[in-house]
Amino acid sequence: MATATPSELHPVGAFVPLPFRVAERRQDTGDTWTLTLEPEESGFAVEPGQFAMVHVFGVGEVPISVSGPPERPGDPIVLTVRAVGAVSGAICASELGALLGLRGPCGNSWPIAEATAGDVVVVAGGIGLAPLRPVVLHTLAQRDSYGAVSVLYGARTPADLLYTDQLEEWRSTIAVDVTVDAAEPPWKGKVGVVPKLVATAEFRPEAVTAFVCGPEVMMHFTVQALRERGVPDERIMLSLERDMRCGIGLCGHCQLGPTLVCRDGPVYSQADVGALLGVREL
Ligand SMILES: Cc1cc2nc3c(=O)[nH]c(=O)nc-3n(C[C@H](O)[C@H](O)[C@H](O)COP(=O)(O)OP(=O)(O)OC[C@H]3O[C@@H](n4cnc5c(N)ncnc54)[C@H](O)[C@@H]3O)c2cc1C
Repeated sequence: MATATPSELHPVGAFVPLPFRVAERRQDTGDTWTLTLEPEESGFAVEPGQFAMVHVFGVGEVPISVSGPPERPGDPIVLTVRAVGAVSGAICASELGALLGLRGPCGNSWPIAEATAGDVVVVAGGIGLAPLRPVVLHTLAQRDSYGAVSVLYGARTPADLLYTDQLEEWRSTIAVDVTVDAAEPPWKGKVGVVPKLVATAEFRPEAVTAFVCGPEVMMHFTVQALRERGVPDERIMLSLERDMRCGIGLCGHCQLGPTLVCRDGPVYSQADVGALLGVREL
């Protein structure tokens, strides 16, 4: 029997960080930046929902979802990163022209093709809109292939809302409903948690696919609200976060019961992981 070589099992980008240069840098909120990275050499293509292991030389490496996925290996990659610690802080602080290393593409992708001809509801909390942005961009680019499309988005305060200019643009083509947990004037929009928006969203429960990403408690209540509308667990898709090191299914850090989130996820259906998420400390 022929034995596969390591490079056949894993493409080179899985082990070796490829050099990318910061070509654009925009501050979205007090703690979140969006970077456009251009590959120095070959780069790689990414499906919506996949992530890259982003390496800051001398600091460390963390998983970051691709919020603007390149269709071809030479295209730039867009990342939206919230500075919460050493590595994410160093990514956000990277100046124009700085060199970062990216391994990828890692993980599976949102099943957007399977949702074709049906309705789509995107439910995002906080930074969770970053991995869902490619789903929204895809439905906008292929608008005729989908029925009703809604984006339900919540953040802690108005100042924490991401992509505010794009949310306005999207409103001209699809339904966009935004809420914040807490606000003061001049905010005139909704106040409340994002799962509450599900009850009034326009979609056919029997023909919708839900794409959900945010803090786990937000996803828990969103699933409840979707179930109350009659959406089956098989068509509720969740993107999970777990502590990850290798990003390619070797080290076991991101194990969730029988599955490794970096290799088998991060995207799962509620039917696949609902029971696991209900187990405390798993
Ligand atoms: C598949 C995947 C995709 C991700 N995509 C994005 C993204 O698009 N944008 C983004 O800003 N972040 C994303 N994250 C989270 C990001 O990886 C963490 O914020 C980062 O690893 C924190 O590392 P640090 O060294 O900066 O902070 P640390 O010093 O390691 O941690 C600082 C704080 O963040 C918490 N933390 C650490 N790792 C995680 C984690 N994986 N999830 C939640 N909390 C964590 C710690 O408990 C601690 O409170 C993603 C995570 C995964 C698993």
